[in-house]
Amino acid sequence: MPAPPTPDILALRGRVVTFRDNPFTTDPVAALHHEEDGLIIIRDGRIAQMGTYADTLRHLPADTQVTHYPDCVISAGFVDTHVHYPQLPMIAAYGEQLLEWLERYTFPTESRFRDPAYARDIARRFLAGLLRCGTTTAAVFCTVHPQSVEAFFSESERLNTLMIAGKVLMDRNAPPDLRDTAQRGYDESLALMTRWHGRGRQMYAVTPRFAPTSSEEQLKLAGALLARDQTVFMQTHLAENLDEVAWVRSLFPARRSYLDVYAHAGLVRPRAIMGHAIHVDEPDLMTCHDSGCALAHCPTSNLFLGSGSFRLFDALDPRRPVRVGLGTDIGAGTSLSQLQSLNEAYKVAQGTGRRLHPAQAFWLATAGGARALHLDHRIGTIAPGMEADLCILDPEATPLQALRAQSCDSISDLLFSLMMLGDDRSIRATYVAGRRVHERA
Ligand SMILES: [Zn+2]
Repeated sequence: MPAPPTPDILALRGRVVTFRDNPFTTDPVAALHHEEDGLIIIRDGRIAQMGTYADTLRHLPADTQVTHYPDCVISAGFVDTHVHYPQLPMIAAYGEQLLEWLERYTFPTESRFRDPAYARDIARRFLAGLLRCGTTTAAVFCTVHPQSVEAFFSESERLNTLMIAGKVLMDRNAPPDLRDTAQRGYDESLALMTRWHGRGRQMYAVTPRFAPTSSEEQLKLAGALLARDQTVFMQTHLAENLDEVAWVRSLFPARRSYLDVYAHAGLVRPRAIMGHAIHVDEPDLMTCHDSGCALAHCPTSNLFLGSGSFRLFDALDPRRPVRVGLGTDIGAGTSLSQLQSLNEAYKVAQGTGRRLHPAQAFWLATAGGARALHLDHRIGTIAPGMEADLCILDPEATPLQALRAQSCDSISDLLFSLMMLGDDRSIRATYVAGRRVHERA
């Protein structure tokens, strides 16, 4: 008989940060768990042990090599809860707000994804870009073309990244070559969902772009798709821009609010992710709390398009907390780096009179994002049993950061300097299911 394969063991040593609690409901410093000199042992893609280097070393089989990152911080990989991979080529498009920006830049760019070779090329660049920024899971919009989804999942499967993605549903108010019909959208989504949902680490999201580009019939059929499987995701946009909100009111006069349009179609439920949710009211937030759906806070995008300020602390009010994750929203967002999202999230919070503690910020980008997606039993924290998706952060990646790091007197301060000054250069390496998939040159 052949010998059983040796388990794949990996050991990483460095400053480990993770979360044992929610820093929005307890003292942020107490919620943050920090090992000054930590060791993480990974077996077959999962975390087997994590603790101080001195205590944990005894669990390591003799002659296992330890990869040491002496001045780096080891964190769970970042979670991006709202992003459009096809919009990568049109990042930094000048001058418009949401509805004009869609017409002028987004739709022409998305038309190119009818070509599977183009879709494969951009999917490859996009996923490499995410990993370069330490992001290991994302909820990703493709285009209306099924081949755009095929290209994305094929590349994600090759990398073994845990990704959520889906075909955009759009049967009105869009150029003819980007429109499906309610029935075709349903059929194509069902075929993709059947093929990809739960295959390895890939998961499907039913993806109506937003209420104005779907008929009532299409939204109803999106709800019917979701009713087939409670584990499937739903992603869309909600109340990003005031003109958009007014448009939705005119298209769906019978509904109480924009969110109610989705609720009426059965789209508001656990594993539903609403991008933006800037212009929502208290009853909407209560609906989100009760339903278990999530909001994706996309600060670089909201600032770029002048959409408004998401009220993060209102959404997370401990009396009726809503699940909130952080999104880059490329191509309206201006960086794939969640460190850059946190930089802008801090400023947006300041503008609403609130202070985003670095522990709260890193929680949003990791454990909070995982919780928003109902994936916190698999990813988002560093603990035995969790899938080993990790990023290695270098707080001294640039001369300025090295200078700033000299005055850091606590792990919170070090994390704050990372989120305010960091970007892809701060990512020393990224691990996916225990395998190194990116290393900084
Ligand atoms: Zn978006």
